[in-house]
Amino acid sequence: MNPDDYRIAPKSKVDLSGWNAADHADIQDKELAKAILKENRKVIIDLQERLYAENAQSILVCFQAMDTGGKDGCIENVFKGVNPSGCRVRSFKVPNSVETSHDFLWRYHQHTPRTGIIQVFNRSHYEDVLVVRVKGLVPKSVWEKRYEQINHFEEVLEDRGTRILKFYLHISKDEQKRRIESRLEDPAKHWKYSEADLKEREYWDDYQKAFEAVLERCSTKTAPWYVVPANHKWYRDVVVSTVIRQTLEEMDPQFPKGSVDVSQVTVI
Ligand code: ADP
Repeated sequence: MNPDDYRIAPKSKVDLSGWNAADHADIQDKELAKAILKENRKVIIDLQERLYAENAQSILVCFQAMDTGGKDGCIENVFKGVNPSGCRVRSFKVPNSVETSHDFLWRYHQHTPRTGIIQVFNRSHYEDVLVVRVKGLVPKSVWEKRYEQINHFEEVLEDRGTRILKFYLHISKDEQKRRIESRLEDPAKHWKYSEADLKEREYWDDYQKAFEAVLERCSTKTAPWYVVPANHKWYRDVVVSTVIRQTLEEMDPQFPKGSVDVSQVTVI
């Protein structure tokens, strides 16, 4: 498995119908995937502690998907065991009246990570060119400008030491049908089902087009988008955890040097 296979090169043309949501590359079974995830998590936990201690860099991880795409499960599986003091998750729902009375980036900017922190966005500023575009919540002349505005926003964060990773969890329309049906069949999953899921499904093609535009216009060298095959949850988690692990390894956070010569210290 090479995560670069799923990374969108800047300004490339994207046709999601050509991306196999059921891909699992050379990872043949769930057991192997779980072992890789466990190993990745160990490294992520260790490097997150260093990132926190170093207090100089940060990471912003954005998750987007079609409904039932598995954002919550993926966040749970990849970040399990990470020290909660240094890792935050923020979910973004329909904006409230205070949020809509500001510019569209206002509510996101308040939750971008300070140094030392891994911040996860469960849905993100990309909603403002996804649901907003598909549902026509603002005129085209407004959402059309947002791709560039988002790229500039992310540049501001990068310049302050934030690495940005963006994952589109890609499921097929059939897989979404299976997942909605399973929510209906299992009483423990009823709370996850909403009538809106079925309504949104009618807009499947429009959403795919809106995602393609995001991937084509907002995947940059430093803040890349990944199209993660997500029909197999175990493979999805391997891809996402590998990208995060590799990014942390590249960032190479270091424990700061202590301010005293410990060899001279005696605890009495
Ligand atoms: P989730 O599906 O993420 O678990 P919900 O079922 O509560 O959470 O859905 C959140 C809803 O909020 C989605 O329908 C999403 O499209 C909507 N939403 C998020 N951001 C915006 C936005 N900026 N404008 C309009 N709707 C938004």
